[in-house]
Amino acid sequence: MMLIPLARRVLTEADPKVIGKFVYNFGIKGVRSVELYKRRLRRGQSFPPFLFISVISGCQLRCQGCWVDVEAPSKRLSREDLNRIIGDAQAHGNSYFGILGGEPFLHPELLEVFGDHPDCYFQVFTNGQLITDAVARELRRLGNVTPLVSLEGTEAVSDVRRGRLNVFSKSLAGLEQCRRHKLLIGVATSVCQSNIDDLVTEAWLRRLIAMGVHYVWFHTYRVIGPHASPELALRPEQVVAVRRFIVRMRARLPIAIVDAYWDDRGEALCPMATGVSHHISPYGDVEPCPIIQFARETVRDRDSLFDTMTQSTFLQEFRETAARTTRGCIVLERPDLVRDLVVRHGARDTTQRGTALAELERLERRTSQHNPGQEVPEDHWAYRFAKKHWFFGFGAYT
Ligand code: SF4
Repeated sequence: MMLIPLARRVLTEADPKVIGKFVYNFGIKGVRSVELYKRRLRRGQSFPPFLFISVISGCQLRCQGCWVDVEAPSKRLSREDLNRIIGDAQAHGNSYFGILGGEPFLHPELLEVFGDHPDCYFQVFTNGQLITDAVARELRRLGNVTPLVSLEGTEAVSDVRRGRLNVFSKSLAGLEQCRRHKLLIGVATSVCQSNIDDLVTEAWLRRLIAMGVHYVWFHTYRVIGPHASPELALRPEQVVAVRRFIVRMRARLPIAIVDAYWDDRGEALCPMATGVSHHISPYGDVEPCPIIQFARETVRDRDSLFDTMTQSTFLQEFRETAARTTRGCIVLERPDLVRDLVVRHGARDTTQRGTALAELERLERRTSQHNPGQEVPEDHWAYRFAKKHWFFGFGAYT
């Protein structure tokens, strides 16, 4: 039974303010935001309870499979932009925000933005290298932020995967600052051919527990972007093996394991297709999801982001086409349909490099998290309950 040891870990390792903000701003208000989302859906309005915002395009790393314009001049959303986006979403009951980049901690006003919204909860997808003693100390004082540090392999693999030297040790140094300052800490991995044997193991999870990590998020490597490295993609049986591992470890170890690809019965889902999340680019574009770098609208089109998103026929048709086509990832499985949607709507390529359409046209069809007949249902009652009520298809897959 892993819940009690996990709770004991959090209560003894994390700061009480950090725990309080997690329980209230993320837990209680997060559930409320999903209930409000369900109510909106019944009224035919789709505005996601979980917004993912890329606050800056710049990054100090050069990862294989990265779709962000890291080689172009760094651009960012201003503090005013961010406060307006967050404020508008909050006005409709949202409290959780996923903060992406580039590398979010390169944004000079990020900590101020967190401070501007003490009643919200921010999960920062970071490589951890800029989490200094001072940054971690401030995150503890704020209490409403959880760093999700990406680790993509052992030392040697990390340097290749991330296109720089000593990446693993620098990220671990950031993790150690988070542990010292009693934060709630996560580690994310895009599981691929070069790290699946090292990181999808019980030994690795036990190492993370020893390092003070409270939760992990195993993504599946997406073959996308200007340096897509298709050789890193997982085979279908490996995706199913990762799913089995996740379900098994959830009932075994005192560490939480997040996923955004499967419901309580083990049926695949796409967070974009269900409308549970959409993405704001570093340039303010309103995109279906982070890897679909095309848009018709921006956050500056109207005063209300809510109006922009609920009235977007581009987003609506993307959700419906994806849900009609697969329970998995339409970008991986049917890049041709993504291209057709983009062309039909006359959507803009939102990248600075301007090659997103050509990249899409180069993609081959491949499988994703949807492997019919290989569903692995949740084993642990807590995950089954949470997914059954707050993370499922929301009627998208009829
Ligand atoms: S389209 Fe693919 S990458 Fe985008 S949210 Fe859906 S599953 Fe994830």
